[in-house]
This record gives sequence, C-alpha cells and structure tokens, in this order.
Amino acid sequence: MKLGFKGKLLMGFFILLMVQGLVIFFWFSQAMKASVLDEIKNQGLSTATSLAVGLVEPLLAMDYLRMKLLVDETKRLSNDIFYIFVLDPEGRILAHTFKDGFPVELKTVNLFSRTKGFSLKLLNTGDEKIYDYAVPITVNQDLLGVLRLGLSHTRAEEVVDQVLITTIIIMVLAIFLAGLVGTLLANPVIRSIKKLHDSSEQALRGNLNIHTAPALARNCWDIMNCSRTECPAYKNYHHRCWYLAGTLCPTCVGGEYAKKIESCRKCRVYRQCSGDEIQSLAESFDAMTLSLKGNLSDLKNAEKILNDQKGRLQTILDAVPDFISLQDAQGRYISVNKAFCEMLGRSQDQIVGRFNKDLFPPIIAERYDEEDRSVLSSSTPLVKENRIKDHRGTRWLHVVKIPVPGKDLASIGLVCSGRDISILKEVQDQLTHAQKMDSVGRLAAGVAHEINTPLGIILGYGQLLLEDVEKEGQIYQDVSAIVKQTKICAKIVKDLLNFSRSSESVTSHFDIHTALEEVIDVVEHTFRLNHITIRRNFHPSPLYLKGDKEKIRQVFVNLLNNAFDAIGSNGEIFVGTGEAEPGSQMKISVTDTGCGIDKKNLQKIFDPFYTTKGPGKGTGLGLSVTFGIIKEHKGKIEAYSPPLDKSLLQGTEFVVLLPLDNEPAKGEQDG
Ligand code: SF4
Repeated sequence: MKLGFKGKLLMGFFILLMVQGLVIFFWFSQAMKASVLDEIKNQGLSTATSLAVGLVEPLLAMDYLRMKLLVDETKRLSNDIFYIFVLDPEGRILAHTFKDGFPVELKTVNLFSRTKGFSLKLLNTGDEKIYDYAVPITVNQDLLGVLRLGLSHTRAEEVVDQVLITTIIIMVLAIFLAGLVGTLLANPVIRSIKKLHDSSEQALRGNLNIHTAPALARNCWDIMNCSRTECPAYKNYHHRCWYLAGTLCPTCVGGEYAKKIESCRKCRVYRQCSGDEIQSLAESFDAMTLSLKGNLSDLKNAEKILNDQKGRLQTILDAVPDFISLQDAQGRYISVNKAFCEMLGRSQDQIVGRFNKDLFPPIIAERYDEEDRSVLSSSTPLVKENRIKDHRGTRWLHVVKIPVPGKDLASIGLVCSGRDISILKEVQDQLTHAQKMDSVGRLAAGVAHEINTPLGIILGYGQLLLEDVEKEGQIYQDVSAIVKQTKICAKIVKDLLNFSRSSESVTSHFDIHTALEEVIDVVEHTFRLNHITIRRNFHPSPLYLKGDKEKIRQVFVNLLNNAFDAIGSNGEIFVGTGEAEPGSQMKISVTDTGCGIDKKNLQKIFDPFYTTKGPGKGTGLGLSVTFGIIKEHKGKIEAYSPPLDKSLLQGTEFVVLLPLDNEPAKGEQDG
C-alpha cells in the first residue's frame, strides 16, 4: 500500500533523524570514549605524579609509616585506584596498598625508563583491565624510588558506556519529539490538502457549490465597517473580495484578476485576511469553482437558447411540404425535414449521419455524389427536374442544390430542396394536349368550312344528275356512288365541325337518363343480336344538365359503339350514372368487357384520326369528337383500362363528368 502524505512526511522525518542519530552516535561515542579514557589516563598520571612528589620527603626520611599512610589515603580518596605501591631504586617494596599480600610478578610488568620519564601500560588480569603507571620519585635528578599506581580501566569503560546509553536515550527522545512536532505541524497542511482533494472530487462530479477556504474571523465588511449590500462580496462568507469582480470599495480596482489582486495587496482587508500558501490555494480553488459555475450557467443558458432555436427551426422545416436536407462538405446528412424522411420512408435518426450510398441504390447514390461534388467544388447552385421512384410510385421533383459558403468562401456544405411537381407536370401535359387539340380543331374547322361548300355543290349536282338519268343504267350507279361517297365526306366534315365546336348548338335542360335511354333504345337491338347485353345502373333521381341534347346523345352513341367494337360478340356493357360531387357534378360511366386498350395507347385515344381499326373501318374522329363535345359542355372525359371496377379484369371504362344543373330557370326544361 502506498503511504499518504502524512506517512511520507513522518517516514522522512524518522529516517532523517535515525541517520543523523546513528552518525552522531557512532562518531560521538568513539570521540567521547577516547576523550573519557584520555581524561582518566591524564587524571591517573596527575594523581601518580602528585603522589610521587608527596613521597619525596618520607623517602628521604625513610619514614615508612608516612609513606604507607600517604598511599593508603590516596587510594581511599579514589574508587578508581586499584593499587599503589612504592619501590626503592633497587626494586624493593617500601609501601603498598595490597591487603592480601603483594603480588611479586607485578613489580616487573612495567619498568620505567629514565629517558621516557614515566611509563604507562594496560594490564589484563583476566577479570580486570588496569592502567599501570610507573612514575619515578626524584630529588635533583637523583632517583629515590618508583611509584606504581594501578587505575581501573574497566570502571572507566563503564563510565563511557553510561554516557553512551544516556546519549541514546536522549536521541530516541529527540526522534519522538521531532515526530510529534512534525505530526502537529503536518496535520493542518494534510487536512487542507484533503479538503482540497475532496472539493476537487466534488467538482469533478459536477457539484460546484463547494467551499474549501477556511472561514475568516473578520470579513471585509467587518473590517471596513461597510453596509453596501449591493456589493457581490457583502456577507459572502465563502469567497474573498479580492477574487470577486465588481466589488464596490472605493479602492477596489476593476478589470482582470491580475490587475485587481495587485491593488488588493495594499488593502488592509487583504493584509488581515490573506493566509499562507495553503489558504491561498483553497481560496483560489473556490474562486475557480465560482467562475466555472458562472461559465457553466452561461453555457447552459446558451445551450437552452440553441436547443429552442433548433426546435423552432426544425418545426418550420417540417411544416414545409418541400423536402429539405443539409449535408456537410463530405456529403454526410446533418439535418433533414419531415418531408425528406417521408420521401425516403425512414426516420430522421436513420438518415442523419449517413451518406448517399447508405440511403439510395448504388447507381443513384453515385449520380447524387457527383452532383454534390460539382456543386461544392464550383460553389454554383444546381437546378434540375428529377424523376424518382419511391414507395408512393413515380414522381417528378424540382430539385435545387445550393452550396453553403464558409469563412473563406469555400463551400462547407450544401442545402438541397425538392418540390413535388408531379401534378404540375400532369397539368402541363394536359395543357399541351389541349393546345394540340385546339390547334387541330381550328385547322379541322378551317378545312371543313372550305370543303363543305364544294361538297354541297358536288352533292347537289350529283342528286340533280340522279333525277335526270336512267335508274337501271351504269351512269346512275356511278353517280349514286359519287353521291354516297360525297355524303360520307359530308359526315366527316360534320364530325370535324362538331369536334372543333364550330357546328350549331341547340341548348336545352334535360335529364341525362332520357338521353341515355334514347341512345340505348337505338343500339340495344343490334347489340343483342351479337349477344352483347347493356346493363343499367342509374342514379334513382334525375340528373339534369344544360346543353345540346343531340350532341350528348352522339357522345354516348360513340362510347357504346366503341364498347361494341371492343367486345365483338358475347359480352356486357355497364352504363351507370351518379353524383361525382353532390349537387355540382354528375358522373356517367360506360364500361365494357372487351379487349381493353394498351397503356401506351390510352393517352392517344382522344387524338383526332387516331384509330386502332383497320382501313375503311372508321376515321378515328369518334373519340376526338366526343372529347370536343364534353369539353364544350365544360366537362371531362377519362378512360381506364382495365376498368376502375376491380371486379372486371379486362375491358375499358369511360368516365364522363358533366356539370349538374338540377335547378333550371323557368321554361328552360325540355319536356
Ligand atoms: S468589498 Fe464590498 S462588501 Fe467588502 S468592504 Fe468593499 S464594498 Fe464592502
């Protein structure tokens, strides 16, 4: 386990003191031992020398008693003196302190030399170590005798050991005291560091309401006798005024922290309240969390505003029926609206962050990528009409791709918008068709008018000729053929005039059912001979319209004849009526069970002279005349193959829509 700051500090203290103690101990013990032994040796020499001087007089007087008293007294005064004895120059014992008899061998173990003065030897008896001093007793260079003094070396060592033990005890006490003092000094620091650590952990968890700096005995408003409640520092116990912006003391300097703190150092509030480095650290930490809290709050507000704006923008984009998308410079979809999602049949989450290749088939994605790259590199918008196929079928889109310029005008993305113009396209086609029909109608009318007169003349003269020639003759037959073909031409001209609406109209108010019944009565017999049945499914009430009854009858004659031709024999024709839009539009349908019409031909069937019948079997004007009559009556005709009625798998259905006029002006109604 790793040591904490306190453990490390104490361990450091301990190791330092131990090393220091051991160094001191070994050095000091050796030095002290040497010093004490030297001192003992010098003390022994001094005692021996003094005693040798004191023995001069008894020796000269040969007073053995005084000699004995002197050596005994000297030994008695010092516990360290082991023995004392005096020898005459010949080595005879004159006095000694031994109680149990003099050890003779001791006389020769330490011989003094006249050249050295005295002699010192360390004797080892086995039980004891003894410093043996041999000191000459002289008078005027004459040797009177030799003093031998034995000093206990063991006792000296004991003294040294006692001193060393005392030193060790003092050292241990010093270490303990140092540890105690170190702990007392380190504890506040460690507490502050722990508090800082806890605060930083809290801050990391997102809690910025933390107060690390210690409470002050007196705050700025106490020290300055201030009552400016509007000041941000007033009664703010957790933050120091020198860290807060916008304080209101006259001496407070505004601006950034570095500038402010310089002025604060001279202020008495700062001088009284600022603490050591640890306190400064805690205060600056609190100031940092306060600043972070402010910045975080600003950021959250900004994020909320951004989210609100994003939501509003998305709502607006979703309300737009056109599809809109935003891509970055790499082609990644960043934002799309609801219409775009509906077009792709995917959710926003499934589109945002993806590329064209993830959303479209490979060939189409490659084409879109190429277009996008071109728009981004050239910074030029692209406008095009695009035909797409999706889950709702084939549709036409008007697409605009606009580059989004960045700071250096290089494109950083592109906005793509697309509008569904399928209906517009359909209307355009219808308009083109109508214009074509109109041109053809006008041409037909012109030609018909031009031909009508000569035809009338040919017919008139032909009929006159027929009256003048023999009925059985060849000429009669030839003229009859001319008259017959001229009548056919006249019929075509009449149809052309009908188609171009140039013929005369007789307007009346009539029920569509009467017109239909009249037509059906005429054709039903012939149809029945070919096993074709006409089935009526009429609206129970009369459906009135205002128009040319004759022309309307011609419309349904054409439609029924077309149905007859499509069936050939053995089949059914359904004639139905109803209200397409109640009160304003009626609907008449003629449905057959015949061969039907190809999809590609369905668009052309109302064109003049378009026919699928063989030569001599029809002019192809029937349906275009029908189209012209219906249009003249402000109506509409549509063809479906197969029929809208899903129960019929083949055949064609013509649906005619005509304005309903159930309330005619008085006297208008056709009886
Ligand atoms: S810093 Fe503000 S609250 Fe403190 S003494 Fe100055 S004015 Fe008063």
